[in-house]
Amino acid sequence: GASPDSCNTFSHRKNDLPIHGVSETIVGVLGGGQLGRMLCQAASQMAIKVIVLDPVENCPAGALSHCHVVGSYDDSVTVEEFAKRCSVLTFEIEHVNVETLEKLEQRGLDVQPKASTIQIIQDKYLQKVHFSLHGIPLPKFMKIDDPESAKKAGDLFGYPFMIKSRRLAYDGRGNAVAKREEEISSAVQIPLIIWATLFAALGGYDHGLYVEQWAPFVKELAVIVARGRDKSILCYPVVETIHRENICHIVKAPANVPLKIRKLATDVAYKAVSSLEGAGVYAVELFLTEDGQILLNEVAPRAHNSGHHTIESCFTSQYEQHLRAILGLQLGDPSMKTQAAIMYNILGEDEGEPGFLLAHQLIGRALGISGATVHWYDKPG
Ligand code: ADP
Ligand code: MG
Repeated sequence: GASPDSCNTFSHRKNDLPIHGVSETIVGVLGGGQLGRMLCQAASQMAIKVIVLDPVENCPAGALSHCHVVGSYDDSVTVEEFAKRCSVLTFEIEHVNVETLEKLEQRGLDVQPKASTIQIIQDKYLQKVHFSLHGIPLPKFMKIDDPESAKKAGDLFGYPFMIKSRRLAYDGRGNAVAKREEEISSAVQIPLIIWATLFAALGGYDHGLYVEQWAPFVKELAVIVARGRDKSILCYPVVETIHRENICHIVKAPANVPLKIRKLATDVAYKAVSSLEGAGVYAVELFLTEDGQILLNEVAPRAHNSGHHTIESCFTSQYEQHLRAILGLQLGDPSMKTQAAIMYNILGEDEGEPGFLLAHQLIGRALGISGATVHWYDKPG
């Protein structure tokens, strides 16, 4: 049934922005992963042309896009060249070069959401500062520059606490837990090891770290929030996310929490997105604590893995909604058209041959369940 969440009042207003003409529009997307791929699927239905910029030749979005430009979305010259072909520029990843975006905006390119939003969000510490200045509840946090400041954080916040990399973090890469003071120095090196393999010699205090107080959550919740060009906001039903090794593993929609909690979570998500600039869908990750508090974890300025279920279970998927939002079309109804939905993320390949076989067994079973849908990212190995 329809969601009772407070900010979710969808109304049919007169559509004075017809869809005619959108097929002339070229939507440029920085990043061509699974989110870009699903955006292309929604775009194809509406005859919207999506071009993607991604360095990986056989990236998931490549085959489904109108055009895949092979190149780095973090390289100024490449992005500027790519932007010449776009009517509107958007993202499926926030780890892009903000100065380039600002320059493009100054030249009049339509960037959605705005460069200012990407700048705040791509630096998790700046993000925390921004949201705390806007009165959004979050775990206590502080910047650390050396072992002394890290120790001070432990004295202030207690143990365990979370050490996070300010930049380039995803799927828990860039997070480390310090359970006691003696663990700080090894924990600080964890981002070093991870990022050294991926980004060569980033890490340690010099890489830019901050500390967060441990959030004693009973559940993790998430809300997809859509914001139109006219600043109108619609929230999707609150979902519960369950992570395995920091990767979104299961999503339950709607979250099985009291209405009061759903309202509070939706209000926090609404407020967080209101404080940012630009159209599009945003994902707000939240912690629910034992005493019924909602704390903000982080915001993504784009579609999100916790919103995949919207493709099958909501009147408007997060991908279609993102296109509607950035193109200035009327936002669609975000409420659920099914009673409930569950997303199960199969991560087999990383675990070698047995994992791969298990993944295939699970897919086989899913194919035999009516109402279940399989989405295969086709990520290059
Ligand atoms: P990522 O960018 O990888 O999504 P997050 O900062 O969202 O990184 O952290 C990943 C996961 O780690 C969260 O979903 C949550 O399970 C856990 N986590 C993050 N911050 C905290 C915290 N302050 N206290 C407790 N757990 C946390
Ligand atoms: Mg996260």
